[in-house]
Amino acid sequence: MRVAVYPGTFDPITFGHLDIVERAAEIFDIVYVSIGVNPAKKPLFTVEERKRLISNAVTGFKNVEVAEYSGLLVEHARNLGAMSIIRGLRAISDFDYEFQLALMNRKLAGNISTVFLMPHEKYTYLNSSIIRSLSELGQDVSEFVPAAVADALTKKFKV
Ligand code: ADP
Repeated sequence: MRVAVYPGTFDPITFGHLDIVERAAEIFDIVYVSIGVNPAKKPLFTVEERKRLISNAVTGFKNVEVAEYSGLLVEHARNLGAMSIIRGLRAISDFDYEFQLALMNRKLAGNISTVFLMPHEKYTYLNSSIIRSLSELGQDVSEFVPAAVADALTKKFKV
C-alpha cells in the first residue's frame, strides 16, 4: 500500500488544494488530507469545520481520507504508515520554505520522502489567505472554492 499524507492548514480548502489532492490520489493508494493543528495560530474555521468542508469536497475520491495532527508531521506520517509527504508548489516563492521543510523532514525521518506536485497554472495564484480576505470584503469566491466553502465563508462574514 502506497500511503501519502498531504498536510496543511486548509483554512479553508480551495480548488488549488483539490487539484493537488486529485494528482496525489492518482499516484498513491491512500491519501490523507491532514489538518495541522497549531495552538499558536488563530484560524478562521475550527478544525471540525475544516474537516467537514474537506470531507465534503473529497467525497468523489474513493482513496482520500481526512485527518488532523498536532506536533511533528513525520510522527503523524509514521502513525498513518505514510511513505510520502505531499506538498504543492505554486511558484518559485514557495520553493525556499518548502525546500527547508523537506530537508528537515528528511533529516527527522529518512524513509519518508516529500513529493512536490504542481497544480494547474490557473491555480498558481490561489491561497487560502487571499480567499479569506476577498470574502471578508464581500467578493464572490465561488470561482476558487467548492460551493459549500463559499457558503461557509459568507456565513462567517455575515454581520
Ligand atoms: P495556504 O494557506 O498557502 O493555502 P496550506 O497550509 O493550506 O496553505 O497549504 C498546504 C499545502 O498546499 C502547501 O504545500 C501549499 O503549497 C499547497 N497549496 C496551497 N494552495 C495551493 C494552490 N493554489 N495550488 C497548489 N498547491 C497549493
